Amino acid sequence: MADPIHAGGCLCGAVRYEVRGPALQTTLCHCEDCRRASGAPVVAWTFFRGGALEWTRGEPASIGHAERLRWFCAGCGTPLLFVDPSLPGFTEVNTCSLDDPGRFAPADECWLADRLGWMARSGGIPGYEHASPLPEE
Ligand SMILES: [Zn+2]
Ligand SMILES: [Zn+2]
Repeated sequence: MADPIHAGGCLCGAVRYEVRGPALQTTLCHCEDCRRASGAPVVAWTFFRGGALEWTRGEPASIGHAERLRWFCAGCGTPLLFVDPSLPGFTEVNTCSLDDPGRFAPADECWLADRLGWMARSGGIPGYEHASPLPEE
């Protein structure tokens, strides 16, 4: 059976993408870098295979920070994609940039070491002080 294709994009609509499933991992990240890059207290991520994403409209911008690349819409700023060159097997999509984020509930929380005191834990899922264990590539 063909892998399902999930579409997503930014707030203003200038940048659109399609990412080929399956989702390998879903996590809620409390790290300081995600927080700053998003302006939000926590960021939901969905991991797909490396190279699974194709831009279908517009040209996203990217910023390198801590030897990783974060892709976003230069027009509206929506964070879209994260690539860690040390993990070429994974494409990490900002879950809430997907058209149907409700299908990608976080399976765990990571970087609790950076969690803000006023940001509650998500109930009923495992949490890790640092990175979540990676799925098999
Ligand atoms: Zn945009
Ligand atoms: Zn993070």
